[in-house]
Amino acid sequence: MRQPLIAGNWKMNGSKAETVELLNGIKAGIDQITTSEVAVCPPFPFLYLAEDILQGTPIGHGAQDCSREENGAFTGQVSAAMLKDFGCTYVIVGHSERRLFNGETDAIIGRKYALAVEHGLTPILCVGETLEEREQGKTEEVVARHLDGVLESGGIDALAKGVIAYEPVWAIGTGVTATPEQAQEVHAFLRERVAKKSAEVAQGVRILYGGSMKPANASELMAQADIDGGLIGGAALKAGDFLAICKAG
Ligand code: 13P
Repeated sequence: MRQPLIAGNWKMNGSKAETVELLNGIKAGIDQITTSEVAVCPPFPFLYLAEDILQGTPIGHGAQDCSREENGAFTGQVSAAMLKDFGCTYVIVGHSERRLFNGETDAIIGRKYALAVEHGLTPILCVGETLEEREQGKTEEVVARHLDGVLESGGIDALAKGVIAYEPVWAIGTGVTATPEQAQEVHAFLRERVAKKSAEVAQGVRILYGGSMKPANASELMAQADIDGGLIGGAALKAGDFLAICKAG
């Protein structure tokens, strides 16, 4: 059985004080979460707060991105090794906001993924189509391309060490959630694609859903056979909502 993972992607939000409050709020309610694994991904400058406040709890923390380079003259970038040094377990790679605003290609994302694995982090690989691509019937083609970017650079062994997150771009931050059926269809497609390389890895790999997931729709989404948790944006910024989603997992 795959243990559900609920991960909060806090994006570029919060002050130092708000981060402390949110971390403590989640920590205070974590005893009620019995089935899901829980992790939070605050902005880089606040990772030290997560490391400190979440110490000794089952709540993991991760970053929202890492450099595609090992180290050196790359101004403004943060390496996978540095994230490990700050106690991170996870790192999100290939989020659609990075593909869109930072021009990240599948090749770049493949390198980030490989470096994350090399440094003992678990990458959360985001895949997902835009509304236009969905309307043109290209959903499977797009998510297959996103997945293959990692399969081609790191192979099935690398994929076995990560988590996949299906995040339809049209559902992110819009309040429009994919229906459980729409999401399940893509999750099943992704798992089948992994199974073509290894049935064992396909059975074990967790595929999260992300895109306007909230307490009201979380259980229905996560009840689907191939949905193994969520990558939560907006609703992860309120401890009560985030914990309610964790309970649904
Ligand atoms: P929202 O939950 O705000 O739609 O964001 C989802 C997301 O992008 C998580 O990575």
